[in-house]
Amino acid sequence: MAAKTIADLDIQGRRVFIRVDFDVPLTPAGGVSDATRIHESLPTIRHAIEHGGRVVLASHLGRPKGKPNPAFSLMPVAACLVELLDRDVVLADEPVGDGARKVVADLRDGSVAMLENLRFAAGEEANDETFSRALAGYADVYINDAFTTAHLAHASTAGMTRFVSARGMGLKMEREVRFLSQLGGDVARPFVAVVGGANLSDKMGLLESLLGRADAIFVGGVLANTFLKAQGGSLGTSRLDAEKLAWARAFLASAQDAQVEILLPRDLMAASGRDAPAGQVVPAMKVPDDLAALDIGPETAQRFTEGLAHARTVFWDGPMGVFDSAPFAAGTLAVAKAVAAVKFGLTVVGGPDSVAALGRAGVSDRITHISTGGYATLEFIEGKKLPGLAALES
Ligand code: ADP
Ligand code: MG
Repeated sequence: MAAKTIADLDIQGRRVFIRVDFDVPLTPAGGVSDATRIHESLPTIRHAIEHGGRVVLASHLGRPKGKPNPAFSLMPVAACLVELLDRDVVLADEPVGDGARKVVADLRDGSVAMLENLRFAAGEEANDETFSRALAGYADVYINDAFTTAHLAHASTAGMTRFVSARGMGLKMEREVRFLSQLGGDVARPFVAVVGGANLSDKMGLLESLLGRADAIFVGGVLANTFLKAQGGSLGTSRLDAEKLAWARAFLASAQDAQVEILLPRDLMAASGRDAPAGQVVPAMKVPDDLAALDIGPETAQRFTEGLAHARTVFWDGPMGVFDSAPFAAGTLAVAKAVAAVKFGLTVVGGPDSVAALGRAGVSDRITHISTGGYATLEFIEGKKLPGLAALES
């Protein structure tokens, strides 16, 4: 059966264990430099507090590799949460053990505790049964709100759920699943996917899974360089994936069979390197030998914009160029604006860099759903079963 959500479960007076993703970037002084992930789970935490739950928060932070390490303590996160919730958050000094047990036992209805970094224990990433049982010992109700780690079978995302009878999704998790599921269902057409970015290996599965579903796929970034090279183009010193040329040719052939239109760039913005003060527009198949393609060109940006204007469903993952360098940002910003301009349809954007580009373009609030799941987003769209979601089914 499908997973329940926290709103479906009786939590009054019960210990509500919430797996959150508070793996936030820290400042050199040890403060939280970007609290977005904490903000995203506030609705779930507030729901649990308001319904009288005894809230136990659990997260990882960084890669302490199974050993306690003060540099990866959740202390700054707890301090940030105290301000955001305007109430006490008691931080245990360990993920499991006597100290953690006491902190949880002392909870009253509507109060909040946080376990120390789950990855201080080797059992977390090993999905160890003893560690899973110890975590489950703090939970009457298990809630997972950490979509970013749903593709990992760790103790806190999968192992412990066997030992807790009431399980469900947090509100952030529920929102991710709801919108990403829509892309796999009966979508309004045309369905246009825009795929770019740096790493073709990460996106091959996504591209293949889109063949049965999208009407058109617009390709930019390093991915486009690889496809252009596969078609016999000269790409100069452009970054591309030389080992994937055969895959790229096979993919283009499959797309033709599936009648999915693949739009590759016709022109590119090229330069000697990303520090160059300006680029020059070159034909996509003829990048000069000493230059690298660093963005799609204006004609291509225009074509992509026009194509998106007709779309009723859009999924975008991966920038069109090195957009953090101003001379090579235009293509990515044009795509961001064109996705935001889709009025009557579903628009979903994934990929950390693409999400950052939306912010740069000032259009984040005009997207139906911004998915922050990273690999979990890609695997979900590819149709893979995520262990963290499977563990919530009853
Ligand atoms: P996302 O995080 O949105 O999934 P990726 O991480 O796959 O996107 O790709 C983003 C990266 O790709 C950025 O660092 C960007 O500079 C780089 N990139 C995009 N186009 C090019 C290009 N033509 N040449 C070199 N790097 C590129
Ligand atoms: Mg990225």
